[in-house]
Order: sequence, then C-alpha cells, then structure tokens
Amino acid sequence: MQSQDTKLPYKYYLLANTEMFSIDSTLIETYRLATLPSRCAMRMWMQHTGTLPIGILFYHRISENVLNPWTISPQAFRRQIEWLKANYEIVSLEQCQSRMVSGENRRPSVAITFDDGYAENCQWALPYLLEQNIPFTYFVTLGNVLSQSAFRHDIECNAPLSPNSIEQIRELADAGVEIGGHTRTHIDLGTVADPEVLADEVFGSMDEMSELIKKPIRYFAFPFGQLSNLNPVVFQMARERGLLGVCSAYGGFNFPGTDPFHLKRFHGDPSLARVKNWMTYDQRVLRSPDCNF
Ligand SMILES: [Zn+2]
Repeated sequence: MQSQDTKLPYKYYLLANTEMFSIDSTLIETYRLATLPSRCAMRMWMQHTGTLPIGILFYHRISENVLNPWTISPQAFRRQIEWLKANYEIVSLEQCQSRMVSGENRRPSVAITFDDGYAENCQWALPYLLEQNIPFTYFVTLGNVLSQSAFRHDIECNAPLSPNSIEQIRELADAGVEIGGHTRTHIDLGTVADPEVLADEVFGSMDEMSELIKKPIRYFAFPFGQLSNLNPVVFQMARERGLLGVCSAYGGFNFPGTDPFHLKRFHGDPSLARVKNWMTYDQRVLRSPDCNF
C-alpha cells in the first residue's frame, strides 16, 4: 500500500476503470508509444552491455469487487500477467538478486510480489499463478491475519476487507510460495524510533510467522514503502539478522552490480498502460531516486 493512496478520497477509487481512468491510460499509452524508439534503443544497449535492470511489481488485492486503487479485477490482472509473460522472464526475488550479484543481466526480467495479505487473493489470483508455476513473494501483515481484523487503511476508507487466514498462508508456504514479513500492525516504520517497537514489529512478527508456517521468513517489505516510510535501523537489523533482502515501494529498477539487499519495487497498478510505461525502461524511471540504506 502506498502512503499517497491513503490520502485520496474514497470516491476516487470507485472511478477506477471508468472513463476518467481510461483517459489517463490513453495519455500514458500515447506517451509510451511516442517514446518507444528511445526505449527500444536503451533496452538493446543495456542488453548488449549486460546492464539490463530487473523490475519488481507489488500487488495487493485481486477481486471483482474493485473498491480501491490497490485492487485489480481478475480480468485486468490476467492481462498484466499475460503481457509480462510475453515480454519478460518472471523470476523470484532470489533469482533477481543472483542476477544483480553476478553483475550482468541481458534478459528482460520481472518479479512479482503481493503486500498485506488479502483473503480474496486465494479465490483466483494465487491459484492462477501457482497453476502456471509463476514465482511470487507474498508479504503478510501478521497481526491482521491472526486477529482477522480489517487493515487500518481499509477501515479508514470505509471499506473493511478480510485478511488471509493463517491456514491460507500455511497452504501457500506449503505450495512453495515465498512468504515475507510486512510487520505486525502495518505500522509506518519511518515514524518509529523505539528499537523495541522496531524489533517486535519487524522481527518479532517474522519469527512468530515462521513458527506458525514452519518455514523461514527471508524477506521483509516496508509498509507504505515510500522513502519517508523507510528506516535505516531496520535495514541494519535486517542485515545483521541474515535476511536475504528488504523491499521498498517507491519505484525504481534493480541494476546488476548494485547492492541486492534493498529491492526496489513498482506498484502493480490497475492500469496496464501504467505498468507497461514503467516496465519498458522509461528514461525518467531509470533515473528514479535512490537511497543509501
Ligand atoms: Zn502494505
């Protein structure tokens, strides 16, 4: 969930996939097509030099009941996955990191993740991905899963939705899905200084989930994930505890030869035009802001 989303009026979300949304998508697609030659030239140059970066997408909820910008309809999600499959190799976070470590990547690649843990994802989207052997990482806010209470950002939008059950998370883990941590209460870690709170929200919840699903938790994703929501102490603690990586959500590609611990992600936007725009190496996106954590 991006922090900027929670500031939008709820009624806006009801307009998703309506005329306003398609005008927006048409403009983005027009821009992408107009800049296609330079994008193709850039991609070919990066392939030639082995510097092709890897994109990681984060989704939240796939459902017919599109209530907010962090929900995508099954039809739209299927279109996105089909487009990704046709144009990229879909890799796990671990494969993404090994390409970064090798210092060379010539294959257009993308990784898929989900944040929060919405029950409805288990109705169609996750079985659909599993059926096709598409790897993905599923970041879970443990407190909501255990209490079965709606996420605060949904309550604030007056649209409380069910989180996954721990049984569903266990089934996903048993099916080979990488389960990651996403704090205990979906707290904004950028506002927390108390090391005990940080340790419990991030690592206490991951240790507990690991015990519940009998699998190691190797990755963590910051709630909200914008630069202001990150916390350098968490990065340091995560490295010390031997996590494989930590995800943000402010955008940006992951380049070969750079530190693979901090994985940058793009929003799995309901608009395929926007996803295409980000994933096809837009010059503006390639220069996206970096941070030193
Ligand atoms: Zn989240």
